[in-house]
Amino acid sequence: MTKVLIAEDNAVNRELLRELLETRGYIVLEACDGQEALHMIELTQPDLLLLDIGMPVLDGFAVVRKIRENPRLAALPVVAVTAYAMQGDREKILNSQFDGYLSKPVNSRSLAEELDRLLSKRADQDVSQNQASGSQPSGKAQAAREG
Ligand code: MN
Repeated sequence: MTKVLIAEDNAVNRELLRELLETRGYIVLEACDGQEALHMIELTQPDLLLLDIGMPVLDGFAVVRKIRENPRLAALPVVAVTAYAMQGDREKILNSQFDGYLSKPVNSRSLAEELDRLLSKRADQDVSQNQASGSQPSGKAQAAREG
C-alpha cells in the first residue's frame, strides 16, 4: 500500500486532499506544520509528501531543504502544494528541490497525474534494482565465490 503524507496547516485543505487520496486507494497521513512533517516522515516513511508552502514553524521551502540534506530522506518525492499565484512562483518552486507542483484548489486529475508520474518513476527504479539482484549472481557474489 502506498502511503502519502499531507503536510498542510489548513484543516479544510487537509480534508480535501485526504478524500481525493483515499478515493484512489492511498493510505493518508497528516501533519499540521513543517516540524511535524519532518517528524512524521522519520516515523512513518511515506512514499510521497504533499507539502504546503505556507505553514507555521517551518514553511515548505525549509522542509524540502531539510529533507534533501538528510541522506535517509533525500530520495522522498515531494510535491509542493500552494495557492501562491504570483508569476514566477512555479519556477521558484521547481528550482527549490521539489519534484512537482500543484496549485490550490487541488483538482483530482492534476493530483492523480502527479502521483502517477512520481510513484511510477519510483516503481521503475525498484524493478531495475530487483533485476540487478535477481537470479544472475552479482559481481560481488561472484567475486566472493571465486575467493
Ligand atoms: Mn498553509
